[in-house]
Amino acid sequence: MALSIISTVTKLDNSPLVMNILFVLLLFPTFQLLADELIEFQHNAGLQPAIPLTPNEKAWLKAHKEIKVAVKSGWMPIEFKLENERHRGIAVDYLTKVANLLRINVRVIDYNNTTNLAEVDLISGVTSSALITPNFQLLNQPYLIIPNAIYINHYTSEKSEANNLEELRNNKIAVFKTGSLPAKLRETYQDIELVDTNTADEAFEHLKRDKVKAYVGNELVVDYHVEYHRLNYVQKSGLSPFTSDVFMAVNANHPELASLMEIALRKIGQNNKEILDNWKISKNEMERLLKLALVGVLTVLIMLIARFYLLKRSIRIQDAENQQKIWHQANFDFLTQLPNRHLLQNRLQQAIARADRQSLKVGLLFIDLDNFKHVNDSAGHSVGDQLLKEAAERITRHIREEDTTARFGGDEFMVVLPDLEDLQGLEKICEKILNELVRPFLISKERFFVSASMGVTVYPDDGRNTEELMSFADQAMYEAKKQGKNRYQFFTESMQKESNNRLAIIKDLRHAIHKNELVLYYQPIVCLKTLKVLKAEALIRWNHPEKGLIGPNDFIYLAEESGLIHELGRWIFMQAITDLNAIHAQLGDAFQVSINVSPYQFSNTQHLLEMIEVLKAHNIAGKHICIEITERLLLEPTDEVIEIIQTFRETGIEFSIDDFGTGYSALPYLKKFNIDYVKIDKSFIQNLEFDNYDAILCEAIIQMAHKLGISLIAEGVEDNNQRKMLEEFECDFVQGFLFARPKPLQALIEYVKEHAT
Ligand code: C2E
Ligand code: CA
Ligand code: CA
Repeated sequence: MALSIISTVTKLDNSPLVMNILFVLLLFPTFQLLADELIEFQHNAGLQPAIPLTPNEKAWLKAHKEIKVAVKSGWMPIEFKLENERHRGIAVDYLTKVANLLRINVRVIDYNNTTNLAEVDLISGVTSSALITPNFQLLNQPYLIIPNAIYINHYTSEKSEANNLEELRNNKIAVFKTGSLPAKLRETYQDIELVDTNTADEAFEHLKRDKVKAYVGNELVVDYHVEYHRLNYVQKSGLSPFTSDVFMAVNANHPELASLMEIALRKIGQNNKEILDNWKISKNEMERLLKLALVGVLTVLIMLIARFYLLKRSIRIQDAENQQKIWHQANFDFLTQLPNRHLLQNRLQQAIARADRQSLKVGLLFIDLDNFKHVNDSAGHSVGDQLLKEAAERITRHIREEDTTARFGGDEFMVVLPDLEDLQGLEKICEKILNELVRPFLISKERFFVSASMGVTVYPDDGRNTEELMSFADQAMYEAKKQGKNRYQFFTESMQKESNNRLAIIKDLRHAIHKNELVLYYQPIVCLKTLKVLKAEALIRWNHPEKGLIGPNDFIYLAEESGLIHELGRWIFMQAITDLNAIHAQLGDAFQVSINVSPYQFSNTQHLLEMIEVLKAHNIAGKHICIEITERLLLEPTDEVIEIIQTFRETGIEFSIDDFGTGYSALPYLKKFNIDYVKIDKSFIQNLEFDNYDAILCEAIIQMAHKLGISLIAEGVEDNNQRKMLEEFECDFVQGFLFARPKPLQALIEYVKEHAT
């Protein structure tokens, strides 16, 4: 009994001292009743890496929730069993790790003469293939490779006489009968006489009585026995060149199990240090344990005294504790003991405030369990509750200390991840949580399967406050469900995609300029009185090699955002000049082309001034160009803007105000800038109906502009009704599908020729 305590304590030597002692005291008077020997895999063994498996292996695991393993009971410390106890030892520790790695339960049965091996899947400790029934197959690699050491009785022999096997020639040595060692020894050292023994005890007996010069055996086993039985006369004198290899053997009916075991054992590793260290007892260790026991008794005494004083003090702090309890109830979920919705909101708020100060990000995960309702309804609420508790634990396992996991209600959880530096880390956490929750939940020996759908939002990218973030995370979670569950979805992912798409377009556009993919179309501007076409507006198109013809509304704003607008603007201007030359050549030089210039282009005066040089170089008078700008540019013009407009005007270039009526829509100040035309926006024109508000406004604008000496162009004229009204209002020019759509240069020239009568 005392020895079982020692080994128990040995295994606990990482835990705090007091715990060790309490354990010893607790165990001392009790006998552990032999229950079912089942090694259940720990479903919280999530720290174990998932191992990649073939479909066959996966299928086998799915079909076999449990393997039956035959374990010997007298092979200390490899596999053994003390009276009324479970099997223990290195092999059992290996099996426990295997269970967790393969997520399979292991049923341990005693391996003795009566064991029906036909019902056994695995034998945990075999030293040689000669020792197993034909229906079992040794795994390729042993999991233990232990040297065979030489032991002498140092009361009767000198250590120096038995450092190695050479020195034992012509002597008798004891060896364990079973195993591969006797054969190896016989082969190499014919002149050593072997005394076969059946048990270690028998060998020690021979040594003690000087019947053999030495005992050669598995170092791990013999060392353990020597310490365990405190055999003071036994001393290790050297090592043999041989090792004892311990294998597991698999029932040949299960080749999948064989490969699974190979994988698992490889993962755990040969002579796993953690396991072996657990089963080493050295002399120092024994002394340490004794000291520990003494300290333990003292500790218990001190604890008792301390308890007495604490009791007195506790009455005083009970009040405070009550307060604490109330606070706890208000802020924590009863079932999972996680923070509740209320506390989560607080924490999120704090995280946002901190993020603002440190310009970091905050991640918010909204986790909803898939299939939980089904489990809850079919297996009952107590299973459901346990599953939720376990799920809470699994989620919490992968987050940092500063993060908060909260139960939001039902099967919904939220995680606040403050102080995020990058989003990759966030994705990793999401993946880990998904992996945790997709593993089966083992509750009352039954497996239940759920998974998680997660929505992710990031502050400040996605929302400005807790409400927005939570609501968007919720939306993203629904999107994850919609996409097929068991996944996470960034609320920004669609935006992210869009932004990727935008980046791609900007990149393409840069090349488009040089690859001749851009083209200017021209839409005729018709004089309403004469129906002559002496003007056209240049409208850019992009002939994308994959996406086809792209309209300016889909890329001009990107060019503006990216700064590409300057280069693009220059190209447009150059192209318009080139085209104008062709137009003049074919239609006479009264023709004017309108060019749209983006307000952004006015931030680079150099570029704009170059245009004047280009005009001069092409020998084109300014009056053949009209620049379309928006009203916005003139509302609060910088000195540069005023100067440029001035310079342009001096060269004869005309100006028109585009999209008039959509913005500020004030006419008088336009006079200041010597604006030539106002283009009434098409939204206005398209709403024109006899005597409606737009019609009245339109008429008023026209009359007023005329008084200021400004001409009018109505754009987007699509039907004759609109045209008639515009005629009545004495609008000067019209532009719209009713007359002509924007068309390539040559088509424009044909059109004008046809209509120029
Ligand atoms: P915008 O300057 O207002 O150009 C008029 C838009 O109205 C053109 O669209 C034209 O095709 C369309 N349109 C003309 N008549 C009708 C009609 O009867 N009904 C309707 N529904 N639409 C009509 P587009 O070519 O797609 O150009 C869109 C905008 O892109 C332009 O609006 C302009 O702001 C910009 N843009 C076009 N070309 C250039 C350019 O070379 N440089 C710059 N900076 N912007 C350009
Ligand atoms: Ca325009
Ligand atoms: Ca317009």
